[in-house]
Amino acid sequence: MREISAQEITEVVKDLCIDANYNLGEDILSAFERAIKTEESPTGRGVLKELIENARIAREEKAPICQDCGLAVVFLEIGQDVHITGGDLKEAINKGVRQGYEQGYLRKSSCNPITRKNTGDNTPAIIHLDIVPGDTVKITVAPKGGGSENMSRVTMLTPAEGMEGIKDFVVQRVKESGSNPCPPTIIGIGVGGTLERSAILAKKALLRSLGQRNPDPELAKIEEEILVRIKNLGIGPMGYGGTTTSLDVFLEMEPCHIASLPVAVNVQCHAARHKEAVI
Ligand code: SF4
Repeated sequence: MREISAQEITEVVKDLCIDANYNLGEDILSAFERAIKTEESPTGRGVLKELIENARIAREEKAPICQDCGLAVVFLEIGQDVHITGGDLKEAINKGVRQGYEQGYLRKSSCNPITRKNTGDNTPAIIHLDIVPGDTVKITVAPKGGGSENMSRVTMLTPAEGMEGIKDFVVQRVKESGSNPCPPTIIGIGVGGTLERSAILAKKALLRSLGQRNPDPELAKIEEEILVRIKNLGIGPMGYGGTTTSLDVFLEMEPCHIASLPVAVNVQCHAARHKEAVI
């Protein structure tokens, strides 16, 4: 049994919160560069250049990519041969979020849903735990902004609606979202499981790097097909019109109940933040 201290978890979460908010992924930046060459709208090309410049300033001046530094969504894959010592795991994560958002001068966005009173330190984190084989802990911090999360949806289709129903639901969601989720977006789709499982699958799908297709060739084809349909909507960067509406579509699928077809769409804005570390 390998021992990992709660203090180490806190340190790693703190650093990942700051890193994710300051440093946009290379895959996203490369996608912006490619899109400038293919985007048909001059305004759209201008927006993409601004997004690259914004990311450069954030990286060099150690400032957040966006004023909305998001709720701290934390995925943990804990090896079953790991023993966390010296404290409560969830409190260790929340402590890391508290310290990261404070030390990184990141906006605290967590509040009571009814009174709207801010919790003051961006906790509680949204924590997803998985127990996996091995003796390591993989931590992924994916800050999620409100604008794009608000455009996300879960639905229960009838089984008869099948794959065509899934594609139509996703494309319609992107169309109705318009400029609200700060396009170009990335679309995470979760199909199957139960209502809540489909939502987690959709969120997890967003952790893939751009261009990383589903290993199932049939699902990979569907991802590409949905991306083309989204491109044809004409929403464009920041909704000013154009072809660069989404940078990628990721679909994850699991078995579901014989009477159900749960589908979740998690819309991710261009500030697609996620950083990971393995202890
Ligand atoms: S949707 Fe994304 S880019 Fe737009 S304000 Fe929210 S976090 Fe920032």
